[in-house]
Amino acid sequence: FNQNSNRLRIAMQKSGRLSQESQALLGSCGLKINLREQRLIAHVENMAIDILRVRDDDIPGLVMDGVCDLGIVGENVLEEESLQRQLDNEPCDYAVLSRLNFGGCRLSIAVQQESAYDGPASLNGKTIATTYPRLLNRYLKQQGVQARIVTLKGSVEVAPRAGLADAICDLVSTGATLEANGLKEVEVIYRSKAVLIQRKDLADAAQLTLINTLMPRINAVMQANE
Ligand code: ATP
Ligand code: ZN
Repeated sequence: FNQNSNRLRIAMQKSGRLSQESQALLGSCGLKINLREQRLIAHVENMAIDILRVRDDDIPGLVMDGVCDLGIVGENVLEEESLQRQLDNEPCDYAVLSRLNFGGCRLSIAVQQESAYDGPASLNGKTIATTYPRLLNRYLKQQGVQARIVTLKGSVEVAPRAGLADAICDLVSTGATLEANGLKEVEVIYRSKAVLIQRKDLADAAQLTLINTLMPRINAVMQANE
């Protein structure tokens, strides 16, 4: 992985909910990827592309810092990182090349099934556990709600039962996890899908040409899957 080479660098999730479909998308675009299980970097054999496989949380920053040229990541993670970087006065530029048709989920507030809920004002004075403090904070501000936010990187759904929080704000797709933890979904605060992003200051002619070749293929795969 050479910073100075002009191979196009694409960041994708190493293992998780987005990794299979990210890999399949690139495969459908004709990239022959030689994925060895544990490797961080995979070289594409038939195009001037390197794939970097990382935690999804690192993908927005890698693109915003210009370390990778493209990235495939959930809008939830992208927007959270973007809000945090704005607050910290750090680089947060990127361009969305395509909204993809996988990774769909919603970021929702959930409370314990037996608790009375009568709109966002019910959250006043409450403690809410989440992995997405900036997105949650934005929502609470919009609603004029004053609540305490506890940031947890994992196990958010057990926080109410553990007595750590009154409510949670977490990703939901079917709602089965919430139900299994005695929680009910009461507000959807953000709807997310995976997106393909590009760093803002990309100027290398060969890389731009390669992206121009890839984009119609990506859009064709998206349409075929509709
Ligand atoms: P990593 O080890 O890469 O940090 P992770 O555990 O943070 O992985 P995953 O659970 O693999 O992340 O989810 C990755 C992304 O998949 C989420 O950020 C979100 O955009 C999307 N996603 C789709 N459905 C769901 C869901 N039901 N729960 C969580 N994430 C979902
Ligand atoms: Zn993650």
